Amino acid sequence: MTHLLGVIPGAAPLLLVAGADLADAARSIQSPPPVPVGEGIAVVVAEPGTPPPPGARWAPARTALPDLPPSAQPIALRALAVANWRSRARFCPACGGPVEPTAHGYNCLREDRPVFPRTDPCVITAILDSGGRLLLCHAANHPDRLYTLVAGFVEAGESLEDAVRREALEEVGVEVSRLQFIRSQPWPFPGSLMASFSALASAEAITVDGREILDAAWFTRAELTHALNSGAVALPLDYSVARQTIESWRTGRGWRGWRGWRGEVPRP
Ligand SMILES: [Zn+2]
Repeated sequence: MTHLLGVIPGAAPLLLVAGADLADAARSIQSPPPVPVGEGIAVVVAEPGTPPPPGARWAPARTALPDLPPSAQPIALRALAVANWRSRARFCPACGGPVEPTAHGYNCLREDRPVFPRTDPCVITAILDSGGRLLLCHAANHPDRLYTLVAGFVEAGESLEDAVRREALEEVGVEVSRLQFIRSQPWPFPGSLMASFSALASAEAITVDGREILDAAWFTRAELTHALNSGAVALPLDYSVARQTIESWRTGRGWRGWRGWRGEVPRP
């Protein structure tokens, strides 16, 4: 099922979550829909195929999110995360009993115990070499020319730091150290929480598996800028933590990762 956001240009923006079974998503925020949940913001739950209100438009959530005012984005992210979870988890994972929203979250009605919406942590790493170059990779399931940071899901019982080290080794064959947490970002497509790091590669040699990762390469800032300008390389969605991390490294603006090479971040 596709979850959609609607924006009314120039007026009170509306968040529209598609899907008859997604009323709980809106209810978890404020109930019942349509309900104002902030200044100029309301939540509406609509059946798939519902015509948009006058002056509104339907747009895919992934691309509509940046169009929402900053105050509405956390609400949209939460609604999407809960809606996606509810569409995939209708019953209690322990006993199979019905799960219903309460004033404070969700409860298994049979056991009368809370059931928390599932969130899948994911690490994403700006791997740098000692010369300050950035490692970008092209995955088999990505569009042509799209290069991004090494990323992967955290396994059960694993720390974020261990996941960073494991993914770097698995995806590009690189041992990393000097891990530094940069920031996190909810990514409810369908239910991830991204945690971005920077890390230092122990060596420049790259080994990709040829199945999940098809290519990986080191870029200087000038090389990446040239590759972007020529169209040889494309980057992820501009509001993704991957894109923002890459751009802050490339431009030097707001870079919060590792600064060990040659002192400071050079200007592009
Ligand atoms: Zn239960």
